[in-house]
Amino acid sequence: MSSKAKANRVRRLAEWDGQQLRGLARKHGTPLYVLDPDRVRENAARLRDAFPNADVSYALKANTTRTVLEAIETSGLGAECASAGEVQRALAAGFPAERIRYTAVNPPDRDLEYVISRSQTDDFVLTIGATDTLDRVLERGYSGRLCVRVNPGVGAGHHAKVTTGDAPQFGVPYDRAADVCTSIRKEATGVDLVGIHAHAGSGISGDDLASHRELVRRMGVLGREIGALDFIAVGGGFGVPYYPDEPPLALDSVAAATRKAYGDCDAQLAIEPGRYLVADAGVLVTTVTTVKPTAETTVVGVDAGMTTLLRPALYDAHHEIRTLTPDRDGREAMSCRIVGPICETSDVFARDRSLPAPVRSDQLVVGNAGAYGYEMSSQYNSRPRPAVVTVSGETVSRRETLSDLTRLEQNN
Ligand SMILES: *Cc1c(COP(=O)(O)O)cnc(C)c1O
Repeated sequence: MSSKAKANRVRRLAEWDGQQLRGLARKHGTPLYVLDPDRVRENAARLRDAFPNADVSYALKANTTRTVLEAIETSGLGAECASAGEVQRALAAGFPAERIRYTAVNPPDRDLEYVISRSQTDDFVLTIGATDTLDRVLERGYSGRLCVRVNPGVGAGHHAKVTTGDAPQFGVPYDRAADVCTSIRKEATGVDLVGIHAHAGSGISGDDLASHRELVRRMGVLGREIGALDFIAVGGGFGVPYYPDEPPLALDSVAAATRKAYGDCDAQLAIEPGRYLVADAGVLVTTVTTVKPTAETTVVGVDAGMTTLLRPALYDAHHEIRTLTPDRDGREAMSCRIVGPICETSDVFARDRSLPAPVRSDQLVVGNAGAYGYEMSSQYNSRPRPAVVTVSGETVSRRETLSDLTRLEQNN
């Protein structure tokens, strides 16, 4: 398993079986997310191999479908949750509470109440990122395991919108963290301080390993100062290649750099990747509905849009796109602007992308859609959410219907 997993450090869009995807699209319609749980397990195994002594947890927010959660749970990873809803999903998917951490970012009262009531029976870790949150947690009688989120003062990320490490909304300022931990031990006697946590942002790559290393170093220093901790979590953010010529993350060098920067510490190192586990385990299949030549470009309208896959509109993210139609090879390549059905100028998957001259009802497949794809989908413009299936054709989540759009309204 290990050597095989290592050999396939990334699954490129070209490696997905076109005939299989076409068959699934015929059966289930489009837009359609296709997930490969085996690939999730391979990614999990590769991470565990690279970080053999670390606590490896999955940041649920990248993809919370039951199928993904079960694949990750059976791989032995923990669950890093950002909301009460994610805690509930993790428990429902079978993660033992001991392997669940809930990181409360400005938590609404309702989230705290749910999590604290579950903590009567389930021994998970609650991470606070502000002393205010600590007060609110103690007022509600929390008496379980506690972790303090630290703002490490260094950020990293592929886009300013995903850089968290130096954004003041996340975590207790680094300079104050040791004092906060000391006073928790002295004054908040009901809780058990077990860890500290930081997350720099998304998109650790060969290029910005320096900031990752600095974050880990600072957390090691702080952990040694505080002492007697079970773990020090240094976040996720392990990047994946979105461009075809981009090399995969050199996981072994990231692991070695992490170990070295961590230094000698009794607390267990903890990492919590999201994207890395699921990005290349999912694709999005969509159908061409419009081909419109204009003076500027050829506009190719598809039946998926920013409500199906938000990343291009939100982050200017690049996703590879491939034509699935079998006779494509005979066609001349042309530059296309690939757009969705939403009435927003930002509803564009790619502005200038070369494709074999598209014709109506071609199927296209969008790569690396397993992370932050379905998870960020919405019903904006009253578009029902797409279906999600596995490569072997099981339905993970059914397609929403028009009547699902008004299901929650009370007066119709
Ligand atoms: C989003 C998030 C992660 C995972 O980020 P990825 O880029 O998907 O690896 C990890 N930890 C925290 C606290 C997060 O908010």
